[in-house]
Amino acid sequence: MMKAPKAERTEAFRDHRSQLVLSKFLSGELEKLDPVFDPTHGYRYPEIEAIIGDPKATEEFLAHLYELGILTRQSFDKLIYCPSCNSANVSVHYSCPYCKSFNIKKSALIEHIPCGYIDTEDHFKKDDKLVCPRCKAELNKPDVNYRRAGVWCSCNDCNKSFDIPVPSHFCRVCSKNFTFDDAIYRDVYSYALNRDILKEAGVGFILVAPIKEFLQSRGFTVESPSFLKGKSGASHMFDIAATRGDITRNVIVIDLATTAEEVVSEQSIIAMFAKVYDVAPDKACLIVIPKMAESGQKLAELYNIQLIEAKDQHDAIKALERLVIAVVQSKIQQP
Ligand SMILES: [Zn+2]
Ligand SMILES: [Zn+2]
Ligand SMILES: [Zn+2]
Repeated sequence: MMKAPKAERTEAFRDHRSQLVLSKFLSGELEKLDPVFDPTHGYRYPEIEAIIGDPKATEEFLAHLYELGILTRQSFDKLIYCPSCNSANVSVHYSCPYCKSFNIKKSALIEHIPCGYIDTEDHFKKDDKLVCPRCKAELNKPDVNYRRAGVWCSCNDCNKSFDIPVPSHFCRVCSKNFTFDDAIYRDVYSYALNRDILKEAGVGFILVAPIKEFLQSRGFTVESPSFLKGKSGASHMFDIAATRGDITRNVIVIDLATTAEEVVSEQSIIAMFAKVYDVAPDKACLIVIPKMAESGQKLAELYNIQLIEAKDQHDAIKALERLVIAVVQSKIQQP
């Protein structure tokens, strides 16, 4: 594998979605990411789909993190897809090598050791005993006077016999028959975090995991990412949602924004406001690393979104601590 340049990895570390994905590994929620089989789509990664979206984009996203050296991967399975409809709902047909019919009968071959007679099991069956059709002796001691000598197949359509059937495939969706030659044959992987690469990540990296831990240590129930339904009925994703029965009426939502530029664009405030307006949480907080653009600072005030500007995660958690204390105090003051 070609080692990706560090700059590309840094970009990935700052990508919002990678942070959410990696935080699942860092928090211990995921040790190893195994795919789950789904007959319609083939293998899927539901935990990651919740963040990325559709199955195809999720697969590409994971492959990208692997190419960057951030994730490691192992072969989990190989998957056969139908060449005409791309479905993974495919069965194996063991077929007759002469007429290609899959209507074949599989039998066990038995050898009577003393006389050397070999035939299929049904020729030996007599009531519930095995009796040699040639010398009429009873076969009663496996591996002493008889043994299994492989399998034998016969075709119910052309009546020919053979020992090795030819595998072919049948698509359960579009009913097409196809062989390995035409099959789409793809690797399926399970993924894990390459912990060596994390040292490289540095400031602003994967904030979600430590923030989640901090809030949990303060008695909050935390969900990350969290999908909350708004008044409109639409569902919105927040990086973190925290609740604590005694001090929150609804929920505290937190989003994270980082940038490789000098300041984070006001766009992240505007995007958050649209969600906050619909969901109406107790409190909304946007953590930016390192700084919010000036226009964004004004918008945050206008929209009543608490802005936390921090140079690193340590800073961010200290600021969050102050916010939590303030929320608790305001609850105590309210009758
Ligand atoms: Zn098909
Ligand atoms: Zn046949
Ligand atoms: Zn015999």
